[in-house]
Amino acid sequence: MVSNADLAEAFFQLAESHPPGELRLALLRAAYAVFDNPRELDGVRRLPETVPLEVLPTMAMLRGCRGRDAVAAAAHRLAGPHRLRGSPTREGFLTAAEVSRVVADGGGLDPRHLRGAAHWHTRASDGAATLEAMARACLRRGATWGVVTDHTRGLACVNGLDAEGIELQRRAVASWNRRRGEELWVVQGLEVEILEDGRLDVPRTAREGVLLVAAIHTGLAERRDQTGRLVRALQEPGVWTLAHPRGRLFARRAGIRANWEVVFAAAAEAGVLVEVNGFPRRQDLDPTLIALAGGAGCRFLLASDAHHPRHLAFDATAVALCSQAAISREAIANFGPLDHLAAGRPDLAVP
Ligand SMILES: [Zn+2]
Ligand SMILES: [Zn+2]
Repeated sequence: MVSNADLAEAFFQLAESHPPGELRLALLRAAYAVFDNPRELDGVRRLPETVPLEVLPTMAMLRGCRGRDAVAAAAHRLAGPHRLRGSPTREGFLTAAEVSRVVADGGGLDPRHLRGAAHWHTRASDGAATLEAMARACLRRGATWGVVTDHTRGLACVNGLDAEGIELQRRAVASWNRRRGEELWVVQGLEVEILEDGRLDVPRTAREGVLLVAAIHTGLAERRDQTGRLVRALQEPGVWTLAHPRGRLFARRAGIRANWEVVFAAAAEAGVLVEVNGFPRRQDLDPTLIALAGGAGCRFLLASDAHHPRHLAFDATAVALCSQAAISREAIANFGPLDHLAAGRPDLAVP
């Protein structure tokens, strides 16, 4: 059979073999349509509607192949003027169909048992929905606690929260919890920037009563080693989770370089959770590094990194990545109750 992974990769390579233009764009759209389709297309009659019409003959030819080698050979015949080649920035990502299969196979981790929906954004920074709409969507997915983590206004996000915005959101969170906290308790978090020297872009006074999700969003394309920057950030007061540690982005960049054994040992030592970001274009960490972190004694936070209510389902991708790394549910904060957040943090006022 031809898997969506092989089919999508053939379309990515074909797209890159053509100069910029309509055809290249159509091939790229087809690649993403296949990559994001929740079912394997092998034997399916209806293609995703997002596959452009002009590439249907190419699609038919590739789908008619038997196996990966035949797909590669067919792609060679269809290639444009540039050479076909793979890219390390596309390696080690699960297609949506692979996520569905891994989740269905189980392995002890079931997204339906997740209790905490963590790391999501609202209109207060770069999200598409209000806090209320996101909280209601968390509830519909069966969560009993949630952590909203809008960006701070630093280098990484011009639309981020300033001190006044943080205070306004604090009131909105309190209002939700007064009315509906028994169904879903929301805790205010902040996605803060790890600066060049490993400090954070928020003063200590602004860290009271919030959970900090710390991440690197700048200098991601640089090839220098960033171990020191990460290790210093892990020691900053109030850091709850190290978010999307590598900063990789599908088909765009491989992410930062670091000595991950040292970083994970420091996270375990500091009691900082290591995030598994399920946003399909991030998938950060990948299973190999998740297993390394697990071996170092780290605990994990699964994040959808949702910027829209629909994106909350991306925590299933994080579940699939952890399943592949054979992580137990006890090591994942989202499968536990709310009260673990309160440990050592009386300022959070968790009930
Ligand atoms: Zn981020
Ligand atoms: Zn985020």
